[in-house]
Amino acid sequence: MNYVCAHDDEFDPDNPLGKPDVPEHVQDAIRTLLEWAGDDPAREGLLDTPKRVGRAWLEYCEGYKEDPAIHLTRQFTEVGGYDEIVLLKDIPFQSHCEHHMAPITGKAAIAYLPNKKVVGISKLARVLHGYAHRLQIQERLTAEVAQCIWDNLEPHGVAVVIEAQHGCMTGRGVKTHGVEMVTSRILGCFLEDHRSRKEVMSLMGY
Ligand SMILES: [Zn+2]
Repeated sequence: MNYVCAHDDEFDPDNPLGKPDVPEHVQDAIRTLLEWAGDDPAREGLLDTPKRVGRAWLEYCEGYKEDPAIHLTRQFTEVGGYDEIVLLKDIPFQSHCEHHMAPITGKAAIAYLPNKKVVGISKLARVLHGYAHRLQIQERLTAEVAQCIWDNLEPHGVAVVIEAQHGCMTGRGVKTHGVEMVTSRILGCFLEDHRSRKEVMSLMGY
């Protein structure tokens, strides 16, 4: 078979897709966990699992490699006199809880009332993913996204609402399916002005 690779000198035929290496001690840790869970890490189906899990966790936690504020550096100040709420809602995301390393899956609504500075709308989702791709608790995730927008865009107001299901609650413990946790962080005029808050909440569908 012929592989085509842009970096021929770095090309490794044993790893044609250039996947990241998973060090032996990381694989050992996952084998230990498999054994602890009651399985046999040496059986065929589990042989490559330590490598896969190692790589998967690099992806789940790729947010550690970035400062999410980077996505808010490209700002537009010419907004044609637009001075109303900007809202991105139903943004799906996945994170992992820091207590059980279990998945948190949900959706977020992010709104701000600009004060001269706006960003491309997809950037709000990038900020969310930057913080979500770390070990989290939902309360902190919500607060970090709101604070990042508040600090970098200096808007009149910010509102972030997150609804999510927690794997550590649906798959273990009380095993309650379909229960969603809702968290919000509201800053500036959305906090101080009752009418602004009502407006942003109704745009979000609450
Ligand atoms: Zn948990």
